[in-house]
Amino acid sequence: YHFPTPHYHRSLAASRRHGNVPKMVHYMNITLNNISKSFGSLSVLKNLSLCFEEHKTSCIMGPSGCGKTTLLHILLGLHSIDSGEISGLEDKRPAVVFQENRLFEQQDAFTNIRAVCKRPLSNELLAAEFDKIGLTDYNGKPVAELSGGMKRRVAILRALMVDDANLILMDEPFKGLDEALKLQVMQYVKEKTQGKTVIFVTHDKDESEALGAKLILL
Ligand code: ADP
Ligand code: MG
Repeated sequence: YHFPTPHYHRSLAASRRHGNVPKMVHYMNITLNNISKSFGSLSVLKNLSLCFEEHKTSCIMGPSGCGKTTLLHILLGLHSIDSGEISGLEDKRPAVVFQENRLFEQQDAFTNIRAVCKRPLSNELLAAEFDKIGLTDYNGKPVAELSGGMKRRVAILRALMVDDANLILMDEPFKGLDEALKLQVMQYVKEKTQGKTVIFVTHDKDESEALGAKLILL
C-alpha cells in the first residue's frame, strides 16, 4: 500500500483525531517486476519491468514478434510466467479485444454482444451504440457475413459492453479500419473507457496520441 498524497495524510490525521480511521486508500497500478517468459527455447520476454497506471491508457508498441500479444495474454492469465512478479491485477475485471475477433461467427452481432452481458440490453440501446461507430446493415445476419471492418467493430463494442469491466485490453484494435472510420471509433473508445485502466497494442503512434496514451516501447 502507498499513501502518497499530502491530502491523504492530512485527512488521515484529522480522522484519527476524531477517532475514526478512513477506509484504506490504495493505488492499483499494474506492476510487472522482472518478468520472463519463454516458449520452449524461444525467449520472448526477458527481465521485463514496467508499470501500467490505473485509470490511464497505456499503449504498447514494438516490432512484430516482440511479445506484445504474449504480454496481454499473461495479464489475462492465459499464459503463466517463468519468473518475476505481477501485482495490481487483484481488483481488475478485464474485457478484451483479442488480436483475432473471436466472435461467434454463426450468431448475429447483438447475440455476440449479449453473450458477455448479464444485464439486459434492448435492441434500441444496442442499435444506438452501433450507430455511434458507423455500423449499419448488420441486423439479423450471422457475423460471418459481415465485412472485416464490421466484425472488428463488433469485437470492440463487445469488449466495451462487458458488465463492470475496469481493465480494457485491446490487441491492435483499429487495424484494418479505414482512416475516417478509425478516427470515429477511436473517439468512441476514448469516451467509453474514460477513467478505466486501458492497455492497447498498436504499430501506429498516431493511435497512441489520439487515445492520449502513455507510450511503452517493448
Ligand atoms: P507480437 O504480438 O509482438 O507480434 P507475440 O506475442 O504474438 O508477438 O509472439 C512473440 C513470439 O512468441 C513469436 O516469435 C511467436 O511465434 C512466439 N509465440 C507466441 N505464442 C506462442 C505459443 N503459444 N507457443 C510458442 N511460441 C509462441
Ligand atoms: Mg500480436
